[in-house]
Amino acid sequence: MSDKCTYLVNRRISTADAPGAARELYRSLVEVGAVEPHPRNNIPLCLATAFAVRSDCPHFDALVPPKYPRRPHITGVAIEVTDYEWRAEPGGAELTPRYRAGSGLFFNNDGVEAVCPGCGHVIELGPPGSEPLYKALDDWCSMRDGASVVCPNCANTSPLHEWDTASHSFAVGHLGIGLWGGMLGALTEEPQPPSALALRRLLGDNANDYAVIYCHI
Ligand SMILES: [Zn+2]
Repeated sequence: MSDKCTYLVNRRISTADAPGAARELYRSLVEVGAVEPHPRNNIPLCLATAFAVRSDCPHFDALVPPKYPRRPHITGVAIEVTDYEWRAEPGGAELTPRYRAGSGLFFNNDGVEAVCPGCGHVIELGPPGSEPLYKALDDWCSMRDGASVVCPNCANTSPLHEWDTASHSFAVGHLGIGLWGGMLGALTEEPQPPSALALRRLLGDNANDYAVIYCHI
């Protein structure tokens, strides 16, 4: 069985601001009754430590068209902050520092394409020509925001987190929200349906700023 996840990634938030934004998001999701307050690592269809979606919460599954016979369900919400982790506390959860090498990288295991912010050149991870991206990913593990990519097409150097994706396969950011259990295609439809805009607002994205990454893991 494969697991599916839709990640919304804030690529602009700073390391200093991300923990506070994550705690605020956690508090608001618990307050509106969207998720359970304690983090778990045994939620069905969810490979991350996450907060279980409450069965009476309509916000996530509202994005899944009911016509599909095997309708996916969002079972868990992971709120990921670079070099932090959630720990269960008697009253709920606490976000505490913990270094993890690949923290802040979000990508689809089926394939990664990254787009130069300067010229639009696409690097596909794997084939010859992707060495600059491999190097930047390595650098991210030790340097975080110091990691940059030298574009083989325009020769400009730009921070790794500014590299975008056309195929919704890759993003780097200090705050990522994982919606485990399905790929919510409505989040990338144009124009955005009201259910997608409502979910973005629920997750703290008031200006359509979050990059959407579809992960097949
Ligand atoms: Zn370029």
